[in-house]
Amino acid sequence: MGAGFVGSTTAYTIMLGGLFSEIVIIDIDKNKAEGDALDIAHGAALNKPVKVISGGYEECKDADIVVITAGVGQAPGETRLDLLKRNTKVIKSITESIMKYAPEDIILLTVTNPVDILTYVTYKVSGLPKNQVLGSGTVLDTARLKYLISKKTGIDARNCHTYIIGEHGDSEVAAWSVTNIGGMSMQEYCTFTGRCSVDDLDKMYSDVKNAAYEIISKKGATYYGIAVAVARIVECIAGDENSILTVSSVFDGQYGISDVALSVPTKVGGLGIEKVLEVPFGRNEMKGLKDSADTLKELIAELEI
Ligand code: NAD
Repeated sequence: MGAGFVGSTTAYTIMLGGLFSEIVIIDIDKNKAEGDALDIAHGAALNKPVKVISGGYEECKDADIVVITAGVGQAPGETRLDLLKRNTKVIKSITESIMKYAPEDIILLTVTNPVDILTYVTYKVSGLPKNQVLGSGTVLDTARLKYLISKKTGIDARNCHTYIIGEHGDSEVAAWSVTNIGGMSMQEYCTFTGRCSVDDLDKMYSDVKNAAYEIISKKGATYYGIAVAVARIVECIAGDENSILTVSSVFDGQYGISDVALSVPTKVGGLGIEKVLEVPFGRNEMKGLKDSADTLKELIAELEI
């Protein structure tokens, strides 16, 4: 859903992965969806067989996963809360339309921002079980932190195990207490190699938080990183991988938090959310996670869902 920067790049990245037999692009702007579908289908002819088309909501009838990237941008002078209210209406109407056709076991993956709140809206409106609704959450933020740790330490980013938890946004938290490289805690690694200091870690965290602002100020939107993140999430679901990703999901008492969606390390597999892990984060991180939940709940209370 949505053939904007994020939707079309995501469809393209998923096509390259070659995991699906059919990709349907749906957008209110039918020409854009049709143009993207043709463009991507031409590339697919040199990759792996996959049908790429545009269409309407009825195409959801045999879908496995729906990725929701549709949304409206901030109008001049509009507050973030007003924007949230408008995007809530968009996500509500899209979710209702999907659910008219979707099979019972459909998995809905929300990407539109603010992603945690809109994941919660998707969950509420769809009526689906909690495991079948997830958001891209802090998967991208976590990738950004892995990239920065890798750049600083010279270690392959895939071996820099770290997590950004909480809200995908200003209240997110870097879980340094459980970050490790080759079995060494981040602190041990820094002491051992002398290659990073506490100041470096603080800088990495603020760079992660400001990454989207920086990219948007330079080129107007972010889409490659998020497209790879979304493709990775759908790959985990399609392949029943049971991988750990910081997707956003609706909590049900984990960490003493309920009825709000946010991100922590989560087992993702064929059923969508297989298990939300309860990690013994450091005390400040735990407080940050709860503060993040409170911030999101306050915003949800302002909405008509
Ligand atoms: P965009 O404006 O380029 O695309 C939005 C698309 O949604 C447009 O093509 C528009 O026609 C379509 N749309 C609007 N209303 C619709 C409706 N009712 N039904 C169907 N389609 C509709 O925006 P973008 O750059 O692609 O970003 C999309 C969203 O993804 C934004 O909310 C952005 O903030 C978010 N985003 C999230 C992350 C993340 O990590 N979660 C990262 C990057 C972007």
